[in-house]
Amino acid sequence: MDDLLLEVKNLSLHIGTREGPVRAADGLSFKIRRGRVLGVVGESGSGKSFTAKALMRIERPSQIKGGEITFWSDQGPIRIDQMDLSGPEIRAIRWGEIAMIFQEPMTSLGPMHTIGQQIAEAIMLHEKVPKGEALRLAIEVLASVGMPRPAETARQYPHQISGGMRQRAMIAMALSCHPKLLIADEPTTALDVTTEAQILELLEAQQKARGMSILYISHNLAVIAQIAEDVIVMYLGKIVEQADVRTLFANPRHPYTKALLRSMPSVDHDPDGRLATIDGAVPDPLARPKGCAFHPRCPDAIRGLCDVTEPPDLAISETSSVRCHLYSAQVTRAAS
Ligand code: SF4
Repeated sequence: MDDLLLEVKNLSLHIGTREGPVRAADGLSFKIRRGRVLGVVGESGSGKSFTAKALMRIERPSQIKGGEITFWSDQGPIRIDQMDLSGPEIRAIRWGEIAMIFQEPMTSLGPMHTIGQQIAEAIMLHEKVPKGEALRLAIEVLASVGMPRPAETARQYPHQISGGMRQRAMIAMALSCHPKLLIADEPTTALDVTTEAQILELLEAQQKARGMSILYISHNLAVIAQIAEDVIVMYLGKIVEQADVRTLFANPRHPYTKALLRSMPSVDHDPDGRLATIDGAVPDPLARPKGCAFHPRCPDAIRGLCDVTEPPDLAISETSSVRCHLYSAQVTRAAS
């Protein structure tokens, strides 16, 4: 595959707690291709955000315990996992080549400076341009993300504009250095549905216009269906299924993916009926169930197997895989 932008191989992340280390991500392997959108879906506690932050080495309080993160920069492949957390190499990549937007725009925007000053600062960190030129570029990038009255907004402070406009300003800041990869961590979760739709449209348009890749994290499969081309489904720090978006929605394999799909509202859903929910909750990572971590909630669990032995990651094709005993050879043979 020569269109690779980023490859994660067997990545493990640990978080130190008083009770001992918690595995936030456990043996993750996935690829992000150039100009494509990879969706990452899973409930809270699945390790999505920790994984995303590790790609930019802003993973504190977690730590990389094993595996590789390779990014194809203009200079060729580089190992992000081997870089010093605050060294010059990662600072050149962070925001310059890989940028991130968050659910809460104030994570990126400080309250003490105007929107224009903050975007200009980001530009000057990565491009050798004088302040006046950086401010002009800041207004240009605000206009490119559809900000109404961009010159006026550039002179405003974050608290003076609406939540949807703050999200546009954060996207403008992330795009200001022309990253090859944009990581979007639940950027529309706190917004009303109309603004959410506008932000998704904006991201899609920018992704196409700039030919960049996006890693889009969400707990909401409907959002993933709208924006992503490839999808990974995470559960308690592991990838349980990956496929292109059409395959995943038309032919979900893992019982967890099927349960997530059943809990999605649809247009033909009876408005008086209840939406399906997934029984139970994501287990405490410190009390990880033996065998398949999903078995206490799984309607298809095989007693004596799923509660004892961890399922392997089974490759279905070059781009899809599933981690479930139902697809292993012995179980499939025994059932037939
Ligand atoms: Fe369910 Fe067993 Fe598959 Fe886990 S391995 S998802 S418990 S059927």
